[in-house]
Amino acid sequence: MPGERILVLGGTAEARALAKALAGQGFAVVNSLAGVTSAPLLPEGAVRIGGFGGAEGLAHYLRDEAIALVCDATHPFAARISRNAVEGAAIARVPLVRLERPAWIPGGDDQWTDVPDLAAAAAVIAPGARVFLTTGRKELDAFRSRGDIAVVVRVIERPDPPPPDSWTLIAARPPFTFAAERALLQRERIDVVVSKNAGGRREKLDAAASLGLPVVMVRRPVKPYAPVAATVEEMVALARAAL
Ligand code: NAP
Repeated sequence: MPGERILVLGGTAEARALAKALAGQGFAVVNSLAGVTSAPLLPEGAVRIGGFGGAEGLAHYLRDEAIALVCDATHPFAARISRNAVEGAAIARVPLVRLERPAWIPGGDDQWTDVPDLAAAAAVIAPGARVFLTTGRKELDAFRSRGDIAVVVRVIERPDPPPPDSWTLIAARPPFTFAAERALLQRERIDVVVSKNAGGRREKLDAAASLGLPVVMVRRPVKPYAPVAATVEEMVALARAAL
């Protein structure tokens, strides 16, 4: 019903698109951000920032704020908040739906090594390789001890703690074009790309494939069951049906 309060757990471009779509249908959208980015792109509707204090904290919030529906539109690798969301919504007896972009699947020219986590990704890199690391600024630790490889890391914000002095740091916010990605891989003389299987735009992967470069692809964490939509349009329909 229009006017009902919907909590969108965000921090992604899809969450911003979802907030806009739900607000456009007359719902009262409250967006929740973790507070990990210093200058986040703000979505439409009300915005609250910071953790809830686990599943119990979220359940209290849902009751106190009379939330009618939780839309989990967090990143596919944000496993803890999605787990808390399923638990917290169950405790508060509020329906929950999830927006999850489909994982990338390898195509004809892709040369991927599928690994379960970042430690495994760091372990499969050959000594002496020049690596393009695009896993996010909080997930560099597994690579810090690899003094035998050259790392070019791309982040939106400066990592804390800072990366080793020998690393090349590129600060940039997506999206990136295929031509720019290809030029970067060539300019930096990259041998191998490391990526989380985030899904969405695949210019980076297409550029690697076009240059015959291998990609070490980190598998997604498993999230607990929730009704899932793959697009904002599907999610709006799912949300309406859940209310
Ligand atoms: P996480 O490990 O799943 O969550 C860690 C804790 O941060 C949660 O337990 C929760 O604290 C708090 N939290 C996370 N997302 C929140 C949200 N939207 N609203 C309120 N609290 C939130 O999450 P993460 O991987 O650190 O990601 C943090 C944020 O960055 C998420 O919003 C995610 O969508 C976004 N993001 C993540 C990635 C990635 O690769 N992980 C990439 C792009 C964007 P409490 O337990 O105290 O509630």
